[in-house]
Amino acid sequence: MQQTTPFEMAQEQLYACAEILNLEDDVVRILEEPMQQVQVSVPLKMDNGTTRVFPGFRILYNNVLGPAKGGIRFHPEETVDTIKALSAWMTWKCALLNLPLGGGKGGIICNPKELSEHELERLSRAYIDRIWKFIGPEVDILAPDVYTTPEIMAWMMDEYSKISGKNQFGVVTGKPVLVGGSAGRSVATAMGGMYTIREASKELDIDLSKTTIAVQGFGNAGAPAARLSQELFGAEIVAVSDSKGGIYNPDGLNVEQVIEHKAKTKSVINAPNTKTITNSEILELDVDIIIAAALNNVITKENAGNIQAKVLAELANGPTTPEADEILLKNGVHVIPDILCNAGGVTASYFEMVQNRYMFYWTAEEVYQRLDKKMTTAYHEVLYTSKKYGVNMRMGAYVVAVSRVVDAMKLRGWV
Ligand code: NAD
Repeated sequence: MQQTTPFEMAQEQLYACAEILNLEDDVVRILEEPMQQVQVSVPLKMDNGTTRVFPGFRILYNNVLGPAKGGIRFHPEETVDTIKALSAWMTWKCALLNLPLGGGKGGIICNPKELSEHELERLSRAYIDRIWKFIGPEVDILAPDVYTTPEIMAWMMDEYSKISGKNQFGVVTGKPVLVGGSAGRSVATAMGGMYTIREASKELDIDLSKTTIAVQGFGNAGAPAARLSQELFGAEIVAVSDSKGGIYNPDGLNVEQVIEHKAKTKSVINAPNTKTITNSEILELDVDIIIAAALNNVITKENAGNIQAKVLAELANGPTTPEADEILLKNGVHVIPDILCNAGGVTASYFEMVQNRYMFYWTAEEVYQRLDKKMTTAYHEVLYTSKKYGVNMRMGAYVVAVSRVVDAMKLRGWV
C-alpha cells in the first residue's frame, strides 16, 4: 500500500478541522492548496568550469494574516509535495502563535554535502537571482531549514540587498547576529519546545526533575533540546539518535559528552558508556517523554501502539501520521503537536524581523522571555480548545489556527 505523502497528510488534517468547524466548501477550496507556487531552474557554475542546473521552488501557501514566512531546504530528496505540506504547516503555525505572518516554504533539490563552499555561495545567490521578484520583507521572508545555515542566509540577504540597491536585512531571518540576526535564535526551536513540555507537565502532574526522556534526532532542534531538558528541568536523558542509529543508557547520558563525540565522529553512535539501539527502538523505550526531532512520518499505525511515553513532543514537522494520532489518543499519550511544539523557531524569526525594522536589538534573555509568553499562551489556547471540542491536541491547534485564518479571509472579503 502506498504511504500517505506529507501534503496528503496536511490536507487530511485540514479536512478534519473543517468538519469540526463546519467550514463552507468554498473556504476549504481556498485553504486546501497553496496560493502560489514558483518553480525555477538554478544554474550553478561549478569550480571545474562546467555548469549544472538545479530545480528550485518557493511556495506561498496563504498570506491573509501577513507576509509569508518559511524556511529554505537544500536536500537531494526534497520534493514539491513536502514543501507544499511544510508551507501549509507554516501557515497554521504562524496563525496559532498569533504572528502577523502567513506561511511559505522553499528549497533547492541538491546535495550540499557534495558542493564546495564557493559553489554553495554561488548557488544561494543564483537562487535569489531567480526568485527575488516573489520575495521581500513585506512579501515572503526566508529562513534556514534542513541543510541551510546562518551563513547561507547572510549570502541570500546580501544578494537580495544588492538587487534592491539597499540593505534589506528583513528579507531573511536566521542570519548571523552581526548582520541582523537575533540573539537566542539558534536554540529558539528547542527552547520553545521546552516551554510547552513544562506546561504539559503541569497539566499532567508530572515532576520533570524525575522524568526520563528520549530524543530522536540530534541536530539543530534535537541536540539543544536534550541539553536544555537537563539544564532547565534536571530530567534524565536516557537515549538520543541520529541518522546512523541511537544510543541508550538507562542511568542517563552525559549530553555534553555526546555533543563532543558527535562533533568528532559525526555520529552519536559509540559515545562512551552507551548501548547502540535502532531509530525505531528509541521511540518504543520505557521513558516518560519522547522528543521527536528528526524526520516526518516516523510514528505510524505500525508502531504507535508500542509507544510507552506519557508525552510525545513533536519538535520535527509531521512526525506522526493521522492513523497513529488516533492510536495515541486512545492510549492516553499527550501529544504536543508540531505546529505548537516547534513554533519557537518561527516566533524568534518574527522577533528578528521586528528587531530589523526597529534597528534595535534585544538580549537573549529578552528574546526567551517574550518567547515563553507566546508559547505558553498558545499551549493553553490549544489545551482549552481541545477540551472544549473533545478532540486531541493537534485538532485543538488546528481549530485555533484555521479559525484565525478563516476569520481574516472573511474580514478581507476573500470569501
Ligand atoms: P538537522 O538537519 O539539524 O538535524 C536532523 C537530525 O535528524 C540529525 O541529527 C540527523 O542525523 C537526524 N536524522 C536524519 N535521518 C534520521 C533518521 N532516519 N532517524 C533518526 N534521525 C535522523 O535538522 P533540524 O533543523 O534539527 O530539523 C529537524 C526537524 O525539526 C525537521 O523536521 C525540521 O523541519 C524541524 N524543525 C526544525 C526547526 C529548527 O529551527 N531547526 C524549526 C522547526 C522545525
